[in-house]
Amino acid sequence: MKNSHPKKERTFVAIKPDGIQRSLIGEIISRFERVGLKLVATKMLVPTAEFVEAHYTLDPEWRRITGEKNIKSYVDRGEKPWTTDPYEVTERVLKNLKDYMTSGPVIAMVWEGAHVVELVRKLVGSTEPRKSDVGTIRGDFVLDSYMMGDTDGRAIRNLIHASGSPDEAEKEIKHWFTEKELINYRLVQEEILYDVNLDGILE
Ligand code: ADP
Ligand code: MG
Repeated sequence: MKNSHPKKERTFVAIKPDGIQRSLIGEIISRFERVGLKLVATKMLVPTAEFVEAHYTLDPEWRRITGEKNIKSYVDRGEKPWTTDPYEVTERVLKNLKDYMTSGPVIAMVWEGAHVVELVRKLVGSTEPRKSDVGTIRGDFVLDSYMMGDTDGRAIRNLIHASGSPDEAEKEIKHWFTEKELINYRLVQEEILYDVNLDGILE
């Protein structure tokens, strides 16, 4: 990364089509705003299936990890997975994900702030809303599960995407935005969040 100070960390977030249909745009954005994060880029678009596949496969490990998570979810609920090959599972997940993510507009965003990748994942909750903590976006606003997705042959509807690591964030930001679309600006509250001496308050 260009700027190495931790307050300059960036992450990629997308409000998925169900998040927009549920009228949660304002709610989701306000959760990131209120913790002190800064929005540095945003746009609304309907992605193509090719674009969605490229997004999810930016990380060469994603196919294996996603397949393994799904197989574990079968085992955890005492069911036999239909295959033990994580790559085979992920092929199915990816097809369903493309249908999900191209079903309507999404809002792509880049958020900036200290520990933003970790913080945003914490605010978003875990992949399966059924297991997401109360107080997280997925835990508070939706109820989907691996079981529902598997039963109906569709992607888990969990409202939002957020990068899983700083490395993933860097790749995803490049995939969705040009350098010119990322706005470098100062937010007045950063004086309080990050200023070393707090010497600009008293007159
Ligand atoms: P996250 O979005 O929490 O980072 P993943 O990167 O593992 O989760 O998966 C990407 C998205 O694909 C998930 O948010 C979810 O919408 C969908 N998904 C993942 N695994 C499955 C699955 N086994 N069945 C249905 N949908 C899935
Ligand atoms: Mg992910």
